[in-house]
Amino acid sequence: MKKKEFIKHGYQIIDKIAEYLSEADKYPVRSQVKPGEIKSQIPTTPPNESQNFDEILNDFDNIIVPGLTHWQSPNFYAYFPSNTSYPSILGELMTSGLGVNTFSWETSPAATELEEIVTDWLRQMIGLSDDFVGVIHDTASTATLCSILTAREKMSNFESGKKGIGGKIFRVYASSEIHSSVDKAVRIAGIGTDNLVKIPVDNNFAMRADLLRQAIESDLKAGFTPMCVVSAMGTTGSLAFDPIAENYKICKEFGLWHHIDAAYAGSAFILEEFKHLSELASHCDTFVFNPHKWLFINFDFSAYFVKDEESLIRTFEILPEYLRYKRGSEVKNYRDWGIQLGRRFRALKAWFVIRSFGVDELKAKIRNHIALGFMFHDWVKSNENFEILAPVVMNLVCFRLHPIGLDDESVLNGINVQLLDDINSTGKVFLSKTKLNDKFAIRMVTANLNLTEQHIRDAWNLIVETSDELIRKRLLR
Ligand code: PLP
Repeated sequence: MKKKEFIKHGYQIIDKIAEYLSEADKYPVRSQVKPGEIKSQIPTTPPNESQNFDEILNDFDNIIVPGLTHWQSPNFYAYFPSNTSYPSILGELMTSGLGVNTFSWETSPAATELEEIVTDWLRQMIGLSDDFVGVIHDTASTATLCSILTAREKMSNFESGKKGIGGKIFRVYASSEIHSSVDKAVRIAGIGTDNLVKIPVDNNFAMRADLLRQAIESDLKAGFTPMCVVSAMGTTGSLAFDPIAENYKICKEFGLWHHIDAAYAGSAFILEEFKHLSELASHCDTFVFNPHKWLFINFDFSAYFVKDEESLIRTFEILPEYLRYKRGSEVKNYRDWGIQLGRRFRALKAWFVIRSFGVDELKAKIRNHIALGFMFHDWVKSNENFEILAPVVMNLVCFRLHPIGLDDESVLNGINVQLLDDINSTGKVFLSKTKLNDKFAIRMVTANLNLTEQHIRDAWNLIVETSDELIRKRLLR
Protein backbone atom coordinates (compact mmCIF):
# COMPACT_ATOMS: atom_id res chain seq x y z
CA MET A 1 0.00 0.00 0.00
CA LYS A 2 1.31 3.42 -0.98
CA LYS A 3 0.98 6.58 1.13
CA LYS A 4 -1.77 7.96 -1.14
CA GLU A 5 -3.85 4.82 -0.75
CA PHE A 6 -3.19 4.76 2.98
CA ILE A 7 -4.62 8.27 3.27
CA LYS A 8 -7.63 7.40 1.11
CA HIS A 9 -8.50 4.22 3.01
CA GLY A 10 -7.61 5.80 6.34
CA TYR A 11 -10.31 8.45 5.84
CA GLN A 12 -12.65 5.74 4.62
CA ILE A 13 -12.07 3.71 7.77
CA ILE A 14 -12.58 6.68 10.09
CA ASP A 15 -15.88 7.35 8.30
CA LYS A 16 -16.80 3.70 8.67
CA ILE A 17 -16.04 3.66 12.40
CA ALA A 18 -18.03 6.86 12.98
CA GLU A 19 -20.98 5.43 11.07
CA TYR A 20 -20.71 2.08 12.84
CA LEU A 21 -20.71 3.65 16.27
CA SER A 22 -23.61 5.96 15.53
CA GLU A 23 -25.64 3.01 14.26
CA ALA A 24 -24.38 0.32 16.63
CA ASP A 25 -27.87 -0.17 18.11
CA LYS A 26 -29.22 -1.23 14.69
CA TYR A 27 -27.30 -4.52 14.60
CA PRO A 28 -28.43 -7.79 16.22
CA VAL A 29 -26.37 -7.44 19.41
CA ARG A 30 -25.27 -11.04 19.73
CA SER A 31 -23.94 -12.36 16.46
CA GLN A 32 -26.44 -14.66 14.75
CA VAL A 33 -23.91 -16.82 12.88
CA LYS A 34 -23.40 -20.55 13.38
CA PRO A 35 -20.03 -22.09 14.35
CA GLY A 36 -17.77 -22.32 11.28
CA GLU A 37 -19.89 -19.91 9.19
CA ILE A 38 -17.20 -17.21 9.10
CA LYS A 39 -14.31 -19.62 8.46
CA SER A 40 -16.17 -21.19 5.56
CA GLN A 41 -16.10 -17.84 3.71
CA ILE A 42 -12.37 -17.20 4.06
CA PRO A 43 -9.66 -19.01 2.03
CA THR A 44 -7.69 -21.40 4.20
CA THR A 45 -4.37 -20.40 2.62
CA PRO A 46 -2.90 -16.88 2.46
CA PRO A 47 -2.86 -14.98 -0.85
CA ASN A 48 0.48 -14.84 -2.67
CA GLU A 49 -0.41 -11.74 -4.61
CA SER A 50 -1.39 -8.32 -3.34
CA GLN A 51 -5.14 -7.80 -3.10
CA ASN A 52 -7.04 -4.62 -3.68
CA PHE A 53 -7.90 -2.86 -0.40
CA ASP A 54 -11.43 -2.00 -1.57
CA GLU A 55 -12.00 -5.72 -1.99
CA ILE A 56 -10.62 -6.37 1.51
CA LEU A 57 -12.98 -3.75 2.99
CA ASN A 58 -15.84 -5.26 1.07
CA ASP A 59 -15.13 -8.66 2.63
CA PHE A 60 -14.90 -6.96 6.01
CA ASP A 61 -18.46 -5.66 5.56
CA ASN A 62 -19.87 -8.90 4.20
CA ILE A 63 -18.01 -11.56 6.15
CA ILE A 64 -16.68 -10.06 9.37
CA VAL A 65 -19.44 -7.65 10.46
CA PRO A 66 -22.18 -10.33 10.51
CA GLY A 67 -19.92 -12.41 12.76
CA LEU A 68 -19.49 -9.67 15.35
CA THR A 69 -21.17 -9.37 18.70
CA HIS A 70 -21.67 -5.64 19.05
CA TRP A 71 -20.04 -4.64 22.31
CA GLN A 72 -20.47 -0.94 21.55
CA SER A 73 -24.22 -1.27 21.02
CA PRO A 74 -26.19 0.51 23.76
CA ASN A 75 -28.31 -2.67 23.77
CA PHE A 76 -25.32 -4.67 25.05
CA TYR A 77 -25.98 -5.27 28.76
CA ALA A 78 -23.91 -8.43 29.19
CA TYR A 79 -20.78 -9.24 31.28
CA PHE A 80 -19.16 -5.89 32.02
CA PRO A 81 -18.72 -3.48 29.11
CA SER A 82 -15.59 -2.82 27.06
CA ASN A 83 -16.36 0.79 26.28
CA THR A 84 -14.56 2.67 23.56
CA SER A 85 -14.88 6.39 22.71
CA TYR A 86 -13.79 8.70 19.91
CA PRO A 87 -10.67 10.12 21.64
CA SER A 88 -9.65 6.62 22.67
CA ILE A 89 -9.93 5.34 19.09
CA LEU A 90 -7.77 8.23 17.91
CA GLY A 91 -5.22 7.48 20.62
CA GLU A 92 -5.15 3.81 19.64
CA LEU A 93 -4.73 4.75 15.98
CA MET A 94 -1.85 7.06 16.83
CA THR A 95 -0.25 4.32 18.96
CA SER A 96 -0.34 1.90 16.05
CA GLY A 97 0.93 4.63 13.73
CA LEU A 98 3.91 5.36 15.97
CA GLY A 99 4.56 1.66 16.52
CA VAL A 100 6.87 2.31 19.45
CA ASN A 101 7.79 -0.40 21.92
CA THR A 102 7.85 1.02 25.43
CA PHE A 103 9.83 -1.53 27.41
CA SER A 104 12.50 0.94 28.57
CA TRP A 105 12.72 4.67 29.11
CA GLU A 106 15.32 4.76 26.31
CA THR A 107 13.00 3.04 23.84
CA SER A 108 10.63 6.02 24.07
CA PRO A 109 11.05 8.45 26.96
CA ALA A 110 7.71 10.12 26.20
CA ALA A 111 5.84 6.83 26.46
CA THR A 112 7.39 5.98 29.82
CA GLU A 113 6.94 9.43 31.29
CA LEU A 114 3.38 9.75 29.98
CA GLU A 115 2.59 6.37 31.56
CA GLU A 116 3.88 7.72 34.89
CA ILE A 117 1.67 10.79 34.52
CA VAL A 118 -1.57 9.11 33.39
CA THR A 119 -1.37 6.32 35.97
CA ASP A 120 -0.92 9.01 38.60
CA TRP A 121 -3.88 10.97 37.18
CA LEU A 122 -5.94 7.80 37.43
CA ARG A 123 -4.70 7.23 40.98
CA GLN A 124 -5.82 10.72 41.97
CA MET A 125 -9.13 10.37 40.14
CA ILE A 126 -10.12 7.22 42.05
CA GLY A 127 -8.79 8.59 45.35
CA LEU A 128 -6.03 6.05 45.96
CA SER A 129 -3.44 7.34 48.43
CA ASP A 130 -0.19 8.82 47.13
CA ASP A 131 1.91 5.95 48.43
CA PHE A 132 0.82 3.94 45.35
CA VAL A 133 2.55 4.03 41.97
CA GLY A 134 0.92 2.74 38.81
CA VAL A 135 1.69 0.77 35.69
CA ILE A 136 -0.50 -0.13 32.73
CA HIS A 137 -1.21 -3.77 32.00
CA ASP A 138 -3.36 -5.35 29.32
CA THR A 139 -5.91 -6.89 31.68
CA ALA A 140 -6.81 -7.33 35.34
CA SER A 141 -5.93 -11.02 34.98
CA THR A 142 -2.31 -10.07 34.24
CA ALA A 143 -2.20 -7.53 37.09
CA THR A 144 -3.56 -10.08 39.57
CA LEU A 145 -1.00 -12.64 38.42
CA CYS A 146 1.75 -10.02 38.91
CA SER A 147 0.47 -9.34 42.42
CA ILE A 148 0.45 -13.02 43.35
CA LEU A 149 3.94 -13.49 41.93
CA THR A 150 5.24 -10.57 44.01
CA ALA A 151 3.49 -11.95 47.10
CA ARG A 152 5.13 -15.33 46.44
CA GLU A 153 8.56 -13.70 46.06
CA LYS A 154 8.18 -11.62 49.22
CA MET A 155 6.96 -14.56 51.28
CA SER A 156 9.90 -16.68 50.12
CA ASN A 157 12.49 -13.94 50.74
CA PHE A 158 12.88 -13.63 46.99
CA GLU A 159 14.10 -17.22 46.78
CA SER A 160 11.23 -18.85 44.88
CA GLY A 161 12.06 -17.12 41.58
CA LYS A 162 15.53 -18.66 41.76
CA LYS A 163 15.07 -21.99 43.48
CA GLY A 164 11.42 -22.74 42.92
CA ILE A 165 8.80 -22.82 45.64
CA GLY A 166 10.45 -25.73 47.48
CA GLY A 167 9.02 -27.19 50.67
CA LYS A 168 6.51 -24.50 51.64
CA ILE A 169 2.86 -24.83 50.72
CA PHE A 170 1.59 -21.30 50.18
CA ARG A 171 -2.09 -20.52 50.65
CA VAL A 172 -4.11 -17.80 48.94
CA TYR A 173 -7.53 -16.74 50.24
CA ALA A 174 -10.42 -15.24 48.28
CA SER A 175 -14.19 -15.39 48.50
CA SER A 176 -16.25 -18.03 46.74
CA GLU A 177 -17.45 -15.18 44.46
CA ILE A 178 -13.96 -14.09 43.34
CA HIS A 179 -13.21 -13.80 39.63
CA SER A 180 -11.73 -16.88 37.95
CA SER A 181 -8.61 -14.84 37.07
CA VAL A 182 -7.47 -15.55 40.64
CA ASP A 183 -7.81 -19.31 40.11
CA LYS A 184 -5.79 -18.92 36.92
CA ALA A 185 -3.13 -16.79 38.65
CA VAL A 186 -2.53 -19.31 41.46
CA ARG A 187 -2.32 -22.06 38.87
CA ILE A 188 0.27 -20.20 36.79
CA ALA A 189 2.24 -18.97 39.83
CA GLY A 190 2.80 -22.57 40.95
CA ILE A 191 0.71 -22.13 44.11
CA GLY A 192 -1.86 -24.62 42.83
CA THR A 193 -5.62 -24.25 42.81
CA ASP A 194 -5.90 -26.70 45.75
CA ASN A 195 -4.18 -23.97 47.77
CA LEU A 196 -6.66 -21.28 46.81
CA VAL A 197 -8.95 -21.30 49.83
CA LYS A 198 -12.42 -20.09 48.89
CA ILE A 199 -14.01 -18.31 51.85
CA PRO A 200 -17.82 -18.43 52.08
CA VAL A 201 -19.83 -15.25 51.57
CA ASP A 202 -22.61 -13.56 53.55
CA ASN A 203 -26.13 -12.72 52.36
CA ASN A 204 -24.73 -9.85 50.29
CA PHE A 205 -22.21 -12.14 48.54
CA ALA A 206 -19.30 -10.48 50.37
CA MET A 207 -16.51 -12.49 51.98
CA ARG A 208 -17.03 -13.45 55.65
CA ALA A 209 -14.01 -11.91 57.42
CA ASP A 210 -14.59 -14.12 60.48
CA LEU A 211 -14.29 -17.21 58.27
CA LEU A 212 -11.18 -15.79 56.62
CA ARG A 213 -9.53 -15.50 60.02
CA GLN A 214 -10.59 -19.06 60.92
CA ALA A 215 -9.20 -20.43 57.65
CA ILE A 216 -5.82 -18.72 58.18
CA GLU A 217 -5.60 -19.95 61.78
CA SER A 218 -6.46 -23.50 60.85
CA ASP A 219 -3.96 -23.45 57.94
CA LEU A 220 -1.20 -22.26 60.27
CA LYS A 221 -1.97 -25.13 62.64
CA ALA A 222 -1.88 -27.56 59.72
CA GLY A 223 1.61 -26.34 58.66
CA PHE A 224 0.64 -24.35 55.56
CA THR A 225 2.12 -20.91 54.81
CA PRO A 226 -0.65 -18.32 54.41
CA MET A 227 0.54 -15.91 51.73
CA CYS A 228 -2.07 -13.60 50.31
CA VAL A 229 -5.69 -12.47 50.45
CA VAL A 230 -7.44 -11.28 47.29
CA SER A 231 -10.46 -9.10 48.03
CA ALA A 232 -13.05 -7.96 45.53
CA MET A 233 -14.44 -4.46 45.31
CA GLY A 234 -17.27 -5.37 42.98
CA THR A 235 -17.53 -9.07 42.18
CA THR A 236 -18.36 -10.15 38.65
CA GLY A 237 -21.49 -12.02 39.70
CA SER A 238 -23.30 -9.34 41.66
CA LEU A 239 -20.91 -6.41 42.33
CA ALA A 240 -20.43 -7.41 45.96
CA PHE A 241 -17.83 -5.63 48.08
CA ASP A 242 -15.67 -7.70 50.40
CA PRO A 243 -14.98 -6.29 53.89
CA ILE A 244 -11.80 -4.46 52.89
CA ALA A 245 -10.91 -2.86 56.23
CA GLU A 246 -11.34 -6.15 58.15
CA ASN A 247 -9.45 -8.15 55.53
CA TYR A 248 -6.59 -5.65 55.56
CA LYS A 249 -6.43 -5.79 59.35
CA ILE A 250 -6.25 -9.59 59.20
CA CYS A 251 -3.50 -9.39 56.56
CA LYS A 252 -1.48 -7.01 58.75
CA GLU A 253 -1.97 -9.19 61.81
CA PHE A 254 -0.79 -12.36 60.07
CA GLY A 255 1.78 -10.70 57.77
CA LEU A 256 -0.10 -11.49 54.54
CA TRP A 257 -0.16 -9.68 51.22
CA HIS A 258 -3.46 -7.98 50.28
CA HIS A 259 -4.53 -7.52 46.67
CA ILE A 260 -7.76 -5.76 45.68
CA ASP A 261 -9.57 -6.56 42.45
CA ALA A 262 -11.84 -3.62 41.55
CA ALA A 263 -11.79 -4.42 37.83
CA TYR A 264 -15.19 -2.96 37.03
CA ALA A 265 -16.34 -0.90 40.02
CA GLY A 266 -13.04 0.95 40.46
CA SER A 267 -13.95 3.46 37.74
CA ALA A 268 -16.93 4.64 39.82
CA PHE A 269 -14.56 5.65 42.62
CA ILE A 270 -14.09 8.92 40.72
CA LEU A 271 -17.51 9.93 42.09
CA GLU A 272 -17.70 11.81 45.39
CA GLU A 273 -20.65 9.64 46.44
CA PHE A 274 -18.32 6.59 46.51
CA LYS A 275 -15.67 8.29 48.63
CA HIS A 276 -16.33 5.73 51.39
CA LEU A 277 -15.31 2.99 48.93
CA SER A 278 -12.38 4.82 47.41
CA GLU A 279 -10.99 5.48 50.89
CA LEU A 280 -11.04 1.74 51.55
CA ALA A 281 -9.23 1.04 48.29
CA SER A 282 -5.86 2.06 49.77
CA HIS A 283 -6.11 -0.71 52.39
CA CYS A 284 -3.98 -3.10 50.38
CA ASP A 285 -0.54 -3.77 48.90
CA THR A 286 -1.76 -3.84 45.31
CA PHE A 287 -4.90 -2.63 43.56
CA VAL A 288 -6.21 -3.13 40.03
CA PHE A 289 -9.06 -1.62 38.05
CA ASN A 290 -9.94 -1.60 34.37
CA PRO A 291 -10.49 1.78 32.72
CA HIS A 292 -11.19 -0.35 29.61
CA LYS A 293 -14.45 -1.38 31.19
CA TRP A 294 -16.05 1.82 32.39
CA LEU A 295 -13.77 4.81 31.82
CA PHE A 296 -14.12 4.87 28.02
CA ILE A 297 -10.48 3.96 27.33
CA ASN A 298 -10.81 1.16 24.83
CA PHE A 299 -9.69 -2.41 25.48
CA ASP A 300 -7.02 -3.17 26.54
CA PHE A 301 -6.07 -0.95 29.45
CA SER A 302 -5.81 -2.10 33.03
CA ALA A 303 -4.37 0.14 35.77
CA TYR A 304 -2.32 -1.68 38.39
CA PHE A 305 -1.08 0.11 41.51
CA VAL A 306 1.54 -1.03 44.02
CA LYS A 307 2.86 0.41 47.24
CA ASP A 308 6.13 -1.52 47.25
CA GLU A 309 7.78 -0.65 43.94
CA GLU A 310 11.03 -2.34 44.93
CA SER A 311 9.43 -5.75 45.54
CA LEU A 312 7.58 -5.53 42.25
CA ILE A 313 10.80 -4.83 40.38
CA ARG A 314 12.72 -7.52 42.26
CA THR A 315 10.04 -9.98 41.13
CA PHE A 316 10.40 -9.23 37.44
CA GLU A 317 13.75 -7.57 36.73
CA ILE A 318 16.06 -9.43 34.35
CA LEU A 319 19.01 -7.54 32.87
CA PRO A 320 20.70 -9.07 29.85
CA GLU A 321 23.51 -6.88 28.50
CA TYR A 322 21.48 -5.44 25.66
CA LEU A 323 18.94 -4.00 28.12
CA ARG A 324 21.49 -2.23 30.36
CA TYR A 325 21.50 1.52 29.91
CA LYS A 326 23.43 4.35 31.51
CA ARG A 327 20.30 5.93 32.93
CA GLY A 328 19.07 2.65 34.39
CA SER A 329 18.31 3.82 37.91
CA GLU A 330 17.23 7.43 37.18
CA VAL A 331 14.19 6.46 35.14
CA LYS A 332 11.40 3.90 35.08
CA ASN A 333 11.82 0.86 32.87
CA TYR A 334 8.40 -0.71 32.70
CA ARG A 335 9.71 -4.02 31.32
CA ASP A 336 10.61 -4.74 34.96
CA TRP A 337 7.05 -4.08 36.15
CA GLY A 338 5.40 -7.13 34.66
CA ILE A 339 5.62 -10.31 32.64
CA GLN A 340 6.29 -9.21 29.07
CA LEU A 341 9.28 -7.36 27.67
CA GLY A 342 7.64 -5.58 24.73
CA ARG A 343 4.87 -3.18 25.66
CA ARG A 344 2.36 -1.10 23.73
CA PHE A 345 2.13 2.68 24.13
CA ARG A 346 -1.21 2.51 25.93
CA ALA A 347 -0.79 5.70 27.95
CA LEU A 348 -1.53 7.80 24.88
CA LYS A 349 -5.18 6.80 24.55
CA ALA A 350 -5.75 7.41 28.28
CA TRP A 351 -4.21 10.87 27.93
CA PHE A 352 -6.48 11.63 24.97
CA VAL A 353 -9.58 10.36 26.81
CA ILE A 354 -9.00 12.09 30.14
CA ARG A 355 -8.15 15.41 28.48
CA SER A 356 -10.86 15.24 25.84
CA PHE A 357 -13.70 14.30 28.22
CA GLY A 358 -12.36 16.06 31.32
CA VAL A 359 -12.94 14.42 34.69
CA ASP A 360 -16.28 16.22 35.19
CA GLU A 361 -17.75 14.72 32.03
CA LEU A 362 -16.44 11.25 32.93
CA LYS A 363 -18.16 11.62 36.30
CA ALA A 364 -21.41 12.74 34.65
CA LYS A 365 -21.41 9.69 32.34
CA ILE A 366 -20.82 7.22 35.17
CA ARG A 367 -23.34 8.95 37.42
CA ASN A 368 -25.94 8.70 34.66
CA HIS A 369 -25.21 4.98 34.18
CA ILE A 370 -25.79 4.39 37.87
CA ALA A 371 -29.06 6.35 37.82
CA LEU A 372 -30.20 4.24 34.83
CA GLY A 373 -29.26 1.06 36.72
CA PHE A 374 -31.39 2.10 39.70
CA MET A 375 -34.25 3.00 37.39
CA PHE A 376 -34.14 -0.49 35.89
CA HIS A 377 -33.89 -1.98 39.38
CA ASP A 378 -37.06 -0.13 40.46
CA TRP A 379 -39.01 -1.45 37.47
CA VAL A 380 -37.94 -5.05 38.19
CA LYS A 381 -38.69 -4.67 41.88
CA SER A 382 -42.16 -3.32 41.33
CA ASN A 383 -43.19 -6.14 38.97
CA GLU A 384 -44.64 -9.01 41.00
CA ASN A 385 -43.44 -11.64 38.52
CA PHE A 386 -39.79 -10.72 39.04
CA GLU A 387 -37.33 -10.96 41.87
CA ILE A 388 -34.10 -9.07 42.58
CA LEU A 389 -31.41 -11.56 43.63
CA ALA A 390 -28.64 -9.32 44.99
CA PRO A 391 -28.33 -5.84 46.50
CA VAL A 392 -27.81 -3.19 43.84
CA VAL A 393 -24.90 -0.90 44.68
CA MET A 394 -24.17 0.64 41.29
CA ASN A 395 -25.52 -0.42 37.92
CA LEU A 396 -25.54 -4.21 37.85
CA VAL A 397 -28.99 -5.68 38.46
CA CYS A 398 -29.24 -9.45 39.07
CA PHE A 399 -32.81 -10.64 38.73
CA ARG A 400 -34.97 -13.55 37.69
CA LEU A 401 -38.48 -14.31 36.58
CA HIS A 402 -40.33 -15.69 39.58
CA PRO A 403 -44.02 -16.02 38.75
CA ILE A 404 -46.37 -15.95 41.74
CA GLY A 405 -47.01 -19.46 43.06
CA LEU A 406 -44.05 -21.05 41.30
CA ASP A 407 -41.45 -21.84 43.96
CA ASP A 408 -39.69 -24.99 42.79
CA GLU A 409 -36.05 -23.90 42.49
CA SER A 410 -35.10 -26.27 39.71
CA VAL A 411 -38.14 -25.24 37.65
CA LEU A 412 -37.32 -21.57 38.28
CA ASN A 413 -33.75 -22.15 37.14
CA GLY A 414 -35.04 -23.88 34.00
CA ILE A 415 -37.46 -21.12 33.03
CA ASN A 416 -34.85 -18.43 33.58
CA VAL A 417 -32.32 -20.26 31.38
CA GLN A 418 -35.05 -20.37 28.75
CA LEU A 419 -36.00 -16.72 29.29
CA LEU A 420 -32.43 -15.49 28.84
CA ASP A 421 -32.02 -17.57 25.72
CA ASP A 422 -35.31 -16.29 24.27
CA ILE A 423 -34.38 -12.69 25.04
CA ASN A 424 -30.88 -12.93 23.58
CA SER A 425 -32.10 -14.82 20.51
CA THR A 426 -34.16 -11.80 19.46
CA GLY A 427 -30.86 -10.00 18.78
CA LYS A 428 -32.45 -6.87 20.22
CA VAL A 429 -30.48 -6.95 23.48
CA PHE A 430 -27.73 -9.06 24.99
CA LEU A 431 -27.73 -9.91 28.70
CA SER A 432 -25.59 -12.42 30.61
CA LYS A 433 -26.03 -14.71 33.59
CA THR A 434 -24.63 -15.88 36.88
CA LYS A 435 -25.56 -18.20 39.74
CA LEU A 436 -26.24 -16.70 43.16
CA ASN A 437 -26.95 -19.16 45.99
CA ASP A 438 -27.55 -21.76 43.27
CA LYS A 439 -30.23 -19.58 41.74
CA PHE A 440 -29.88 -18.79 38.04
CA ALA A 441 -29.71 -15.00 37.77
CA ILE A 442 -29.93 -12.75 34.74
CA ARG A 443 -27.41 -9.88 34.83
CA MET A 444 -28.18 -6.45 33.40
CA VAL A 445 -25.32 -3.90 33.33
CA THR A 446 -26.22 -0.36 32.27
CA ALA A 447 -22.85 1.13 31.31
CA ASN A 448 -22.57 1.70 27.58
CA LEU A 449 -21.27 5.15 26.67
CA ASN A 450 -24.25 5.89 24.43
CA LEU A 451 -26.97 4.35 26.57
CA THR A 452 -30.20 6.31 26.95
CA GLU A 453 -33.28 5.84 29.08
CA GLN A 454 -35.21 4.83 25.95
CA HIS A 455 -32.84 1.91 25.30
CA ILE A 456 -33.49 0.59 28.80
CA ARG A 457 -37.25 1.10 28.50
CA ASP A 458 -37.19 -0.93 25.26
CA ALA A 459 -35.08 -3.62 26.93
CA TRP A 460 -37.42 -3.86 29.91
CA ASN A 461 -40.49 -4.04 27.65
CA LEU A 462 -38.82 -6.87 25.73
CA ILE A 463 -37.98 -8.74 28.95
CA VAL A 464 -41.56 -8.42 30.21
CA GLU A 465 -43.11 -9.45 26.87
CA THR A 466 -40.78 -12.45 26.55
CA SER A 467 -41.56 -13.50 30.12
CA ASP A 468 -45.31 -13.17 29.56
CA GLU A 469 -44.98 -15.36 26.49
CA LEU A 470 -43.03 -17.96 28.46
CA ILE A 471 -45.58 -17.99 31.29
CA ARG A 472 -48.44 -18.26 28.76
CA LYS A 473 -46.76 -21.22 27.02
CA ARG A 474 -46.26 -23.01 30.34
CA LEU A 475 -49.91 -22.50 31.26
CA LEU A 476 -51.08 -23.88 27.92
CA ARG A 477 -49.03 -27.06 28.35
N1 PLP B 1 -12.02 -9.20 38.00
C1 PLP B 1 -13.32 -8.91 37.87
C2 PLP B 1 -14.11 -8.52 39.08
C3 PLP B 1 -13.93 -8.98 36.61
O1 PLP B 1 -15.24 -8.72 36.49
C4 PLP B 1 -13.16 -9.34 35.49
C5 PLP B 1 -13.76 -9.43 34.16
O2 PLP B 1 -14.86 -9.04 33.92
C6 PLP B 1 -11.80 -9.62 35.69
C7 PLP B 1 -11.26 -9.55 36.95
C8 PLP B 1 -10.92 -10.01 34.54
O3 PLP B 1 -10.72 -8.89 33.75
P1 PLP B 1 -9.71 -8.91 32.52
O4 PLP B 1 -10.50 -9.34 31.34
O5 PLP B 1 -9.24 -7.49 32.42
O6 PLP B 1 -8.62 -9.85 32.85
